[in-house]
Amino acid sequence: MLRKNRLYTPGPTQLLPAAQFAMAAANVHHRTADFRALYQRVLADLKVFVGTQNDVILMAASGTGAMEASVANLTSPGDRVLVLTAGKFGERWTALAKAYGCTIDEVSAPYGETFSLEAVRSALKPDTRVVFMQGTETSTGARHDVKGVAQLLKGTDTLLVVDAITGLGTTHFDVDAWGVDIIIGGSQKAVMIPPGLAFCAVSERAWKRMETSKQPKYYFDLRKERKSAAKGESAYTPATALIAALGAALDYIRESGKGDLAKGREVLVNNAELAAEMTRAGAEALGLKLFAPHAPAAAVSAILSPGGMDSSELVKRFRDEFGAVVANGQGEMKGKMIRIAHLGYYDYLDTIAIVAALEQIMAELQPEKVKFGNAVRAAQQVYAASRAEKRALVTA
Ligand SMILES: *Cc1c(COP(=O)(O)O)cnc(C)c1O
Repeated sequence: MLRKNRLYTPGPTQLLPAAQFAMAAANVHHRTADFRALYQRVLADLKVFVGTQNDVILMAASGTGAMEASVANLTSPGDRVLVLTAGKFGERWTALAKAYGCTIDEVSAPYGETFSLEAVRSALKPDTRVVFMQGTETSTGARHDVKGVAQLLKGTDTLLVVDAITGLGTTHFDVDAWGVDIIIGGSQKAVMIPPGLAFCAVSERAWKRMETSKQPKYYFDLRKERKSAAKGESAYTPATALIAALGAALDYIRESGKGDLAKGREVLVNNAELAAEMTRAGAEALGLKLFAPHAPAAAVSAILSPGGMDSSELVKRFRDEFGAVVANGQGEMKGKMIRIAHLGYYDYLDTIAIVAALEQIMAELQPEKVKFGNAVRAAQQVYAASRAEKRALVTA
């Protein structure tokens, strides 16, 4: 059969057509009134998308750029920081904090798990300046308890920085009420546009902390960006085409919420939650095991390959037979699992198709174990149950 190329990877994700058109049409100089209007609108919409009153800073960088900016702007060499890590992205925080000469404490959990709040509580010291964590650990498909960690920090001077690069748009966060000081997003995840933009929302406490930071920085000086943003500009040449694309994507999310962007964000999050639940049910109906069964993220489902089979074979079959690009495991987890993202522009038909393709691939590999329809039925039942639940809510 024909194969349409589709990205089901946890970044980059499928592109929103309206965003692609906006990008192609963006023939604009950045020091003009037209661009300033676009930039200000996008920054204002991003606040609503993130769900915060805090200022949002946009930068031309992949998501890691905003992670580095957080470390470079909030710390000084020798500062004690706590990294909560249970995967490759958690390890990135440790590597960044190390690069900036911080004194690092770590709470870690095995890959596929999340850390206990008790362990976090006992690792916090009076001089812990910043806690760094992920909202969702993309390398393992696990979700971390941001709210729980934030509560542990209430009433202290310890700042909380959350890499929500796959968390935003797939997970409910109450940024201001919980007290998240920096929350980070990236363009190639749930906002449906290509890689190249990172953004972060920064609390007043965090801006204050920056006044005392002694780290060297230049491009990633957030205070400089904030000053420029107040005038509708960025300090250096912004990624104009990506910003136009982001504007179109935020419009689409607003339309999904019938004109209310905050509602649109909820729609997007609920979409990912349901797609992930359908996918997990489908995989389990095939006898497959989830890598992070205890706290699964809605951003991405990590499914272990059966009986020691190299998951590269599954990844290859998805691509060669169906044009579906799914991710392998990352680092040491390569060969052990596939990861299917439910980020952004990913709908019911994508979900059913990927479950059906998985069923088809497993039927070829393990014909004795697979009965056609079981995985798709499980996914359908999850969908139908959610519809019934919604109808009940409407009538109640
Ligand atoms: C994608 C991702 C990043 C950022 O990676 P970049 O390649 O720098 O964009 C960081 N953290 C998580 C959890 C991610 O999923």
